[in-house]
Amino acid sequence: MANPPGQAGPKLISCRICGVIMVKFSKDVCQKCFQQEEEIFQRAKDFLKANPGVSIAEVAKAVQTTAAQIDFFIASGRFERVGLQIAHTCQTCNKTIKTGLICPECSKDLKEKVTRLQQDLKKAKG
Ligand SMILES: [Zn+2]
Ligand SMILES: [Zn+2]
Repeated sequence: MANPPGQAGPKLISCRICGVIMVKFSKDVCQKCFQQEEEIFQRAKDFLKANPGVSIAEVAKAVQTTAAQIDFFIASGRFERVGLQIAHTCQTCNKTIKTGLICPECSKDLKEKVTRLQQDLKKAKG
């Protein structure tokens, strides 16, 4: 598919963290925040390695960041990518899980719902 007309120029976005207006490259944060976030991630990673089984709140406190920031690392799969697990809650049922965004049960539920939806759509099309 071709690019829509009139979109050739650089795309301006605001940094996800500090809100500064910048040109979007591959990241959604500015260079300054990117470096800060990397530092926080490295520290959180080290802390998790040294203290397996800690909670989000404990990690956030240890590296002096917010729980939301740690949540973001979890949601973007960064801890999983480096082989670390952190207890967090399933986004659907609030059960404590260690990997992914939702627990296996909810994940199964979701898949079934999607399958049913697809079947319904097929039926609706006739
Ligand atoms: Zn920023
Ligand atoms: Zn769940």
